[in-house]
Amino acid sequence: MPTNWAGNLTFSAARVHRPAGLSELRALVAGSRQVKVLGSGHSFSAIADTDGDLVDLRALPAEIDLDSATGTVRVAAAVRYAELARTLDSLGRALPNMASLPHISVAGSVATGTHGSGNANGGLGTSVRALDLITADGLTRTLSREKDGDTFDGAVVSLGALGVVTHLTLDTVPAFAMRQRVRTGLELGDATAHFDAITGAAYSVSLFTDWRAARFGQVWLKRLAGTPEPDLPWTRPADGPVHPVPGADPVHCTPQDGEAGPWYERLPHFRSGFTPSSGEELQSEYLVPRAHAVAALEALAGLRGTIAPVLQICEVRTVAADRQWLSPAYGRDTVAFHFTWVKDTAAVRPVLGAIEAALAPFGPRPHWGKLFTTDPALVRAAYPRMADFLALVEETDPTGTFRNDYLRRLLFS
Ligand SMILES: Cc1cc2nc3c(=O)[nH]c(=O)nc-3n(C[C@H](O)[C@H](O)[C@H](O)COP(=O)(O)OP(=O)(O)OC[C@H]3O[C@@H](n4cnc5c(N)ncnc54)[C@H](O)[C@@H]3O)c2cc1C
Repeated sequence: MPTNWAGNLTFSAARVHRPAGLSELRALVAGSRQVKVLGSGHSFSAIADTDGDLVDLRALPAEIDLDSATGTVRVAAAVRYAELARTLDSLGRALPNMASLPHISVAGSVATGTHGSGNANGGLGTSVRALDLITADGLTRTLSREKDGDTFDGAVVSLGALGVVTHLTLDTVPAFAMRQRVRTGLELGDATAHFDAITGAAYSVSLFTDWRAARFGQVWLKRLAGTPEPDLPWTRPADGPVHPVPGADPVHCTPQDGEAGPWYERLPHFRSGFTPSSGEELQSEYLVPRAHAVAALEALAGLRGTIAPVLQICEVRTVAADRQWLSPAYGRDTVAFHFTWVKDTAAVRPVLGAIEAALAPFGPRPHWGKLFTTDPALVRAAYPRMADFLALVEETDPTGTFRNDYLRRLLFS
């Protein structure tokens, strides 16, 4: 039986399928009582698990079709960002943002509200313009921003609850060059005093701390090639290339020498073909309104002694508000607090509870694909359009074919 990327979860599916064509996939879905799609398996939560039929779409044609008239690209669900980005760049096009790694599938990333960083950059789902969905009856339904308006905003960050996405159409932008540099030595007091200036200093900014000290040991600045190098007087340049995880080899990371290079080799922290992050880990992430960034940082700093012993690294990023009902950045400019933990669920779980309690006053939304222990009622209450999403799930999947324990517990308990 397959496991997820991190190896903290062995899927409990009765059967695993790799359909080679769409008609085979449609028949499989129509004949199944319980189905989930496995993307690239990078989620840490049981969001992709099922005790029924687990479907891997990687044997379907890996289509990437650019429409040069509209600048949109139609991509097969299982295509990974690494491959999509290389192809788009070769055609003179780009995506506005990427996650920390390019190894993840487009459909799986979009379904969980995956995001990168940047005050003005929305999550990856904000590029989605249309999607093709196989519903429980085996029929294909196309939803688009133009045709379906508000409902479409409910269908993009879907948690896989609406059906099997076979294709997505994404907006693209002209290809662009970027430069990346890392700075060091940002004291927490300077970070909180100048938070907006620091996160706004480049196209995409990430702050890293191990919380062993009240300091950010790394500030990753990804800027558009034609823009000046930011002046951050509270920091100094890193001595050389670094990896966010202490002790890990920077060879796994994208170039940090300030040289101009393609967007897809600067926006992610990790290079395709290399292990992203530490490889031996668990992850969690909580997203709160950016207006509370400083108070939330101070609350986390108050837990340093609890967090640091089980932490590999914590990353702070920003995400622009969007309109997608289940996006963790729905309706609010956001700051995201990410944690890469040691791979020890029993030791990490109580720390999650402490973080969730400390962030509770700020209305945290946990990342759907990472680990959290938040009461499902609180998760639901954090999303103003949750009732509309539940109605959309009932309408699109009345037989509950795409539900699993994760969805039943979080959304329907
Ligand atoms: C090292 C590492 C770094 C990460 N960095 C980031 C980051 O920078 N930012 C961030 O936000 N997240 C990050 N994540 C989390 C990751 O982006 C999410 O877990 C994302 O869901 C991964 O995509 P996937 O294809 O692996 O999804 P999976 O885990 O395979 O699936 C996720 C969900 O999508 C559903 N799904 C997948 N494909 C389809 C389909 N075709 N149709 C319907 N439903 C589908 C699955 O059923 C499941 O419900 C990181 C994870 C790792 C391991």
